[in-house]
This record gives sequence, C-alpha cells and structure tokens, in this order.
Amino acid sequence: MGVKDLNAYQVLKEEDLKGIKAKGCLLRHKKSGARILLVENDDDNKVFSIGFRTPPQDSTGVPHIMEHSVLCGSRNFPAKDPFVELVKGSLNTFLNAMTYPDKTVYPVASCNDKDFQNLMHVYMDAVLYPNIYKHEEIFRQEGWSYQLDSVKDKLKYNGVVYNEMKGAFSSPEGVLDRV
Ligand SMILES: [Zn+2]
Repeated sequence: MGVKDLNAYQVLKEEDLKGIKAKGCLLRHKKSGARILLVENDDDNKVFSIGFRTPPQDSTGVPHIMEHSVLCGSRNFPAKDPFVELVKGSLNTFLNAMTYPDKTVYPVASCNDKDFQNLMHVYMDAVLYPNIYKHEEIFRQEGWSYQLDSVKDKLKYNGVVYNEMKGAFSSPEGVLDRV
C-alpha cells in the first residue's frame, strides 16, 4: 500500500530529497486540512512531530503555558504527568515539546517500532484530547502564580513556565539573538 491509497489524504507534492537521501511527500488531510510531511529514508531512527501555529495575542505566555498544560494528562492517558512517565519508561531517542515565537511543536523519536507507535499515540492524544478541557486548574497550575513564604515577604511570581522564561530571557545567546 502506498500513500496514494490513503483515502483520507490528498497527495500535494512528491520530491526526491537527494541531499538527505530521502523521499519527501506532502499530504493534506481532507477532513481537517492538516498538512502532513512524510520523509522516507533508511534511518532506523523514526521521528514524529505534530506542530501548531500559535501566534501570541499578548506577552502573558499563553502558548507556552498551553504547551505544558496539554502534557498533563489526556483522554486515554490520564496520568498527571505522562511526559515524565514517557521519559522514564520509553526507548525514545528524543522526546520534548517546544514553543517558538509563532508555533508549538511536539517531537518524538525512537528506533523501536512499537515504542515509536506508543509515543505517537500518547502525543496525539495529549495534543488533541487534553484533560485541560475538563480540569481548568491544569492551566492555572502550569501558568505563573503568586508565592508568599511569610507575611513579611514580598509577593513573588513563580511557576515552571515563568522560571523557564526567566532562564530564556537571561541566557547570553538568547539576549544576543533578540538584539
Ligand atoms: Zn517550557
């Protein structure tokens, strides 16, 4: 069976990618309009990534907080932190999620076929059926929050995403990049 037999998809373009000794194929999922890029070569390491356009409306960090929030349990994987479970129990060669200034991507990779299928299943379930719809507190927990250790202290900001951004905005490479 070839890609042309996949009825749910329309083949937009096929191309020999000589530079990386691969065959590329661009598909369109008819129902959702999603574009799928297939790159086929003889590398044992299989990679899957799903990405979304997430242009920000303001500087509150919502796309990055959403990236973290969708990895806090989903319809078929209600674990509180499926991402951590995958890191511990999978044969992955890469597993992460990244928010860029205009997009969010969720890449996984593995040399083991069964593991690869499982990683794709967990990630697709996370991004398409996240528990955040049922539990709004997931978003609040991943977003920035106030912290007060004692009544005499000043109110401080805290939160995983907040702390990551403090790191990103203070790294010399990051600062240079934005100049
Ligand atoms: Zn992050």
